[in-house]
Amino acid sequence: MVNCQIKYGTSSIDFTLEYSERKTLGIKVHPDKSVQVTAPLGSSIETIKEKIRNKASWILKQQDFFLSFHPKTPTRKYISGETHLYLGKQYRLKVEEANEESVKLHGGNIEIAVKSKKNKKHIEKLLQNWYKKRALSHFEKLFKECVPLTRGFYNGTPSLNYRWMKKRWGSCDKEGRIHLNLELIKAPKKCIEYVIVHELCHLAHLNHSNEFYNLLEKKYPDWRATKDRLEKLMV
Ligand SMILES: [Zn+2]
Repeated sequence: MVNCQIKYGTSSIDFTLEYSERKTLGIKVHPDKSVQVTAPLGSSIETIKEKIRNKASWILKQQDFFLSFHPKTPTRKYISGETHLYLGKQYRLKVEEANEESVKLHGGNIEIAVKSKKNKKHIEKLLQNWYKKRALSHFEKLFKECVPLTRGFYNGTPSLNYRWMKKRWGSCDKEGRIHLNLELIKAPKKCIEYVIVHELCHLAHLNHSNEFYNLLEKKYPDWRATKDRLEKLMV
């Protein structure tokens, strides 16, 4: 297996290349965005690259639309002064000791009152719970606003679920259950809205086919820019 790369416009595509006894070139795009190419024995690298270049726009689309994310967040210390995101904005943590524990948004700060400042794990937990509570109310509201967009392609009533996910912003299943990653509460509202609409469009197409993109484009014309914004902010 070798690592290769092609340039395509302003993008580049990295892929791993393997040879096997097959007649045609196989291309797989994985949810982590990696691209795996299997070529017939004896094909020249030029031919392979040419074929991949012809498929480049398809590959980029596949990579884009797994809606995967790869958090690069540094290790958090949960101390005063550290910045944390909420709805796309940076807030400073203000950690203070108090008997009554609480988390509050105040000006540009997230104020955390905790019994002991030393217990980082506990502060983390308080903050996670706060994010979750905030997420539930924002997600519900945005979801309600977006659901009418499914008129014309979905007759059921989609349901909203949420959990912390490591690799995806959202998912959708055949039963009409939309799952959102609670991490999304750190992103701007527009990005949350985009993920909801993306998942709702999966109620019509449970794949990332051209039909899916046509529908998404129709329901959320601004999706490309919004997706870029989401990725820049969070990865
Ligand atoms: Zn999708």
